Order: sequence, then structure tokens, then C-alpha cells
Amino acid sequence: MEKIEHIGIAVKSLQNANQVYKALLGSEPYKSERVESEGVETSFFKCGESKIELLEALNPESPIAKFIEKRGEGIHHIAFAVNDIYAEIERLKNEGFKILNETPKKGADNKLVAFLHPKSANGVLVELCQEIENN
Ligand code: ZN
Repeated sequence: MEKIEHIGIAVKSLQNANQVYKALLGSEPYKSERVESEGVETSFFKCGESKIELLEALNPESPIAKFIEKRGEGIHHIAFAVNDIYAEIERLKNEGFKILNETPKKGADNKLVAFLHPKSANGVLVELCQEIENN
């Protein structure tokens, strides 16, 4: 693992949460992006070299809608940057972690992502992410 890449926060209204995090961080979101495959609308803020990802559900089947229904708004996942997501999945599998996406998928912010089951990490949903090289 390289560093904490971002922290994902589940919100009911991206519009409201954008205002709150603008005020909190003193900056504008640097991008917003809809990820249809995950059923989410996201916006990203930078804070130093870390990022905050706000996530709003696009539909009731979205994992974010289910999360908010069960636990309310709040921290949804912690994302770690990795250099080789395939190698890291193998390593963590061998360590006994339950991998939710053995084949990484395209996530928001130009990343390949895979998630670990929260039960594997003391109740924390862990995201691995690797920057997709554009060339
Ligand atoms: Zn994320």
C-alpha cells in the first residue's frame, strides 16, 4: 500500500454536502463524476495530497443507498493507492482477506479499483485503487 488515496463519504444530497465540504476545506470540488455501474454520483475535493470523495446514490439499489439506509450518512470507505492492484489482491487473498472484486473494475477518478469485505477489516470497507495510465 502506498498511501491513503481518498476517504469516501456517503451523503444523502451531493448538492448539500458539496456546500458543507466547500466550507470545511475552503476549496471547490475539482471534479464530479457519475459512475453508472456503481449507481453513484461523486464529487472530489483535494486536501493536501489526500482526497475526499462524496458519494450520493443514483437509485435505491445503489450500495450507497443501502449503506445510508442501514447506517446513515458518514464514512463509507477508505481507499489505499497501490502500484500493482493485481499483485496486491493476490497478497491480501493469501493473508486471508475477503476480496469483493477479484477482477478489478473501472472506478471513478480514472482508477482501477477493488474492494475488500468490511468483515475482513474490522468493519471498514477498504478500496484498493491504482491510477490507470493514459498513453
Ligand atoms: Zn472511493
